[in-house]
Amino acid sequence: MITTKTKEELSRFIAGERAKGHTIGFVPTMGALHNGHLSLIRATLEVYDICVASVFVNPTQFNNPRDLETYPRQPEKDTILLEENGCHCLFLPSVEEMYGEEVLQEEYDFGIIGKVMEGEKRPGHFEGVAQVVKRLFLAVSPDGAFFGEKDFQQIAIIRSMVEQENFSIRIHAAPIVRELSGLAMSSRNQRLTEENRAIAPMIYKKMQESKELKEKGLSPKEVAEWVVKELNQYEAFEVEYYQIVNAETLLPIKKWEDAEDIIACIACYCGDVRLIDNIHY
Ligand code: AMP
Repeated sequence: MITTKTKEELSRFIAGERAKGHTIGFVPTMGALHNGHLSLIRATLEVYDICVASVFVNPTQFNNPRDLETYPRQPEKDTILLEENGCHCLFLPSVEEMYGEEVLQEEYDFGIIGKVMEGEKRPGHFEGVAQVVKRLFLAVSPDGAFFGEKDFQQIAIIRSMVEQENFSIRIHAAPIVRELSGLAMSSRNQRLTEENRAIAPMIYKKMQESKELKEKGLSPKEVAEWVVKELNQYEAFEVEYYQIVNAETLLPIKKWEDAEDIIACIACYCGDVRLIDNIHY
């Protein structure tokens, strides 16, 4: 595996692979890699000849400065994990390499998908995500890129950005990887205290349990209220939202018949760590 910190060297690597007739798959990450990320590397290698991964903690997508400051960083360990999983090239740029001297926010309009859930609670977050992924796509020029369904709404945003920018890059979605406890893997899990780590799996557990209430005939609103109440009983949890939506439009549903593919998305503080997850009903 080669590691490069510059777009120029990355372009040379890509040009060399293209000259050999190789296809390029790409996995953008913010590092502190876990099995969720590594599943994307392995999925990429099943579809494309070459896997490029990036590790870049993107300042423009953090609406909370403390979250940016405390975001785990472990580039040496990440390098080893990527190499072990068959990645061919790691792009590890500095903030300056990505943005130049001045880091400026870009404006995007994603319509309703950019305004609900994460869009509502984290103003500017998706603009920052789209901005950095656009720059990374221009630097890597991949045939396809893999994203995890853990960030379900983000995939819709990326698809919209790709359409707006007219990129011919295939966007692949990969399933959520969970710990044995059911907790969705996340770099932010490292920041949980030991006590909170022990209760964090309740998030997924209660979401799953709520499916039984659906079967018993409770409405989406009643089911959502039950999940919020159950989780908020724990001192450490504070549910920011639990929304049961149409997986295509991300709009809330009133009745279970309102959509064929229904997804429930949660954002929940566990201590001072903000976790997200989702399940299909
Ligand atoms: P991040 O480093 O958090 O920006 O994540 C980089 C990519 O890994 C994104 O496409 C995420 O959706 C994906 N990802 C993060 N956690 C998981 C997980 N537990 N399962 C599957 N994909 C994940």
